[in-house]
This record gives sequence, C-alpha cells and structure tokens, in this order.
Amino acid sequence: MNPLKEALKIKDQIIAWRRDFHMHPELGYEEERTSKIVEEHLKEWGYRTKRVGTGIIADIGKEGKTVALRADMDALPVQEENDVPYKSRVSGKMHACGHDAHTAMLLGASKIIAEHKEELPNKVRLIFQPAEEGGNGALKMIEDGALKGVDAIFGLHVWMELPSGIVGIREGPFMAGVGRFDIEIEGKGGHGASPHETIDPVPIAAQVILAFQTIISRNLNPLESGVVSVGTIKAGEAFNVIPERVYMNGTYRFFTQETKKLIEKRIEEVLKGIVIANNASYKLKIEEVAPPTINDSSMASLTKRVAQKLGLKVEEVPKSMGSEDFSFYLQKVPGAFIALGIRNEEKRIIYPHHHPKFNVDEEVLPLGTALEVGLAFGKI
Ligand SMILES: [Zn+2]
Ligand SMILES: [Zn+2]
Repeated sequence: MNPLKEALKIKDQIIAWRRDFHMHPELGYEEERTSKIVEEHLKEWGYRTKRVGTGIIADIGKEGKTVALRADMDALPVQEENDVPYKSRVSGKMHACGHDAHTAMLLGASKIIAEHKEELPNKVRLIFQPAEEGGNGALKMIEDGALKGVDAIFGLHVWMELPSGIVGIREGPFMAGVGRFDIEIEGKGGHGASPHETIDPVPIAAQVILAFQTIISRNLNPLESGVVSVGTIKAGEAFNVIPERVYMNGTYRFFTQETKKLIEKRIEEVLKGIVIANNASYKLKIEEVAPPTINDSSMASLTKRVAQKLGLKVEEVPKSMGSEDFSFYLQKVPGAFIALGIRNEEKRIIYPHHHPKFNVDEEVLPLGTALEVGLAFGKI
C-alpha cells in the first residue's frame, strides 16, 4: 500500500471535510457537530469508538504495538476576514489555527487505515480531542484513558512558518511550556489631586511591569530562553480618582524546570519587593498551564524516515515559544509533534496562526494524511 497514492485518491474528500468544519467552527468543549460527524464516519469504517465529552477515542487492529494519532477539533473566538466560499458561517468564531485541517487529515487517514486494516502491523488509536486552545483538552482525554496501552503517539500541526508541503521535524524540545500569573496590587485610593493622602497602586504597577522586563534580560542565563509578558492591566474608572487596586495578568514561557522555577521565583520577589517599598500589598496567583512539548528522538527520526519514504521534503523546524497541550501526551508516552508547512505566498496564505486572515494551503492536506497513515504502519 502506498499511503501517498491512497491519500491523493481521496484528496477532494479531505478538502471537502476541511471546508465543512471550517464553515461550522466550534469553540473548546463545544465541538458537538464536529465530533458527531467524525464519530459517524469512524463507526461506519469499523472503529471501536468511545466518547469523552466532545472528544473521541477510536481503536482498530488486533496485533502488535499501539500507535496513537491525535487531532484537535476546536476553533477560536476570532471573526474571520477571509473572502472565501467556505468562510466561517458563525459570527465571532473561526478555525484560525488550522484544527479544521487536522481533523480532516486524520479523518482521511482513518479511512485509509480502515480500508487496509488486514495489513496493519500495529494497533491504531485515534484521538480526536476537544479544547486545545487554552482548555487543556488533552488532559481530559488522558484522564479518560486515551493513552492506555499506547506505545507511541504522533500529532500533526499545520505550520505557517514553513513553506507549503515541507514536513518540519525536531528532536527534543519543540514548543515551550506555558504558565500564567494573576496579580492584584492593593494601595489606598483617594482624590486624584491629593496623591500624598493615598497609596497609588498605578505607579507601583508600572514599576512592577518595568522590573519584570529584567527577569529574562538580567536573571536568566542568556543561553537559555524564556518569556515574561504582561497581557492585561486594569485600574480605576475615573480620570480624577486614584484607584484602590490594580489588576494585571500575563504569561511566562520556558523549556526547562529550572527556567520555570527561576521565572516564578523572580516574579514573586520583584513584585513583593516593589510593593513593600511602597507600603502597598499584593495577591499573586501563579501556575503552570502546560509543560514544554518535548519530542522523543527516536520517534522524531522515525517520522523523518516515514516522511522521506513518502517522498516528502523534510526540514528541521526551529523551536517555538508557543505552546501545545500535546505536551501532556508526550509527558507520558514517547512520540513526536510534527509541523506541516502551509505557507504559500502566491495564494496569499501568509497570515499567522490566530489571525483573522489565517488560511491553510489545502494542497498539503493529502500529504498530512499520507504521513499519518505511514506512521500508523511504521515500525515503532
Ligand atoms: Zn492555536
Ligand atoms: Zn493549534
């Protein structure tokens, strides 16, 4: 069986699925329609399926090790600005990260795998998960047994930084771990004309934000990477009133436990020091959201061999400070997160992930399907 030939045979079908999902985007944990369509097909093709909320676990095959393939199905709260016939029909929601393509590619692979199940050297587990975008849907799937008996796992993500059709593979750390902090600085409010009678939390917050910029530049080893970004800040309602409190939150990124701990420690120390020096008080909530995505070296090289055997062009993809909840699977089972290039200047498919003009070069969809089929048949 030639996975690429099989995938090209159903190319139109894969594109049609992708466009259908694209027109009907659903946010995290609301993937009712999408999962219903996926489940109906899987049952029709002979998979043993299990529901996990709006997620689906499906098995096929009798012998050998178990290879898991994962797709995420959720969309984003973004208003689409593409002028295409398959534009999102739901106002304020859009598949702006390409999860519609992931679902369609894996559905295509599922069909081909089922048609050739007698030749399968492995058992195959499909994981169609909800809520990748900030909802940690992967965790829910794992809690409900998605990784039980699984020997290797692979997940594909369309990738705007890579030219169309290139398979991006990386051994070891690939995507960053992500954390979130929420801060409340409490001072003493009062009249804007009498600052001396108040403890103004606004300049305190300003000092904190500026001092946070030195955590990466002055505290972290320059050869390591990390990010601290304040994302929101909220203080006061009136132009002539000194508010009682300032709220802010933000994100931090890391690749190692040492960096994570250093950032968390410095956020608290810097905040505490500045607040105390100003006679104010604070509340801090700081927590890891997802660990870094770290590919197993042998699974990454297996992916490379499978892709090259299919005649696909492979490149090493640079690390990214973005994050992926696929990291939770990789914490438990060896596997690889794989990038699939979709950038196409001629078609103006150049806008970054989560942008209202994000789009996918659909020519790559059968390539992703073929790669997934190749991995299902791979010698793990
Ligand atoms: Zn995304
Ligand atoms: Zn994504």
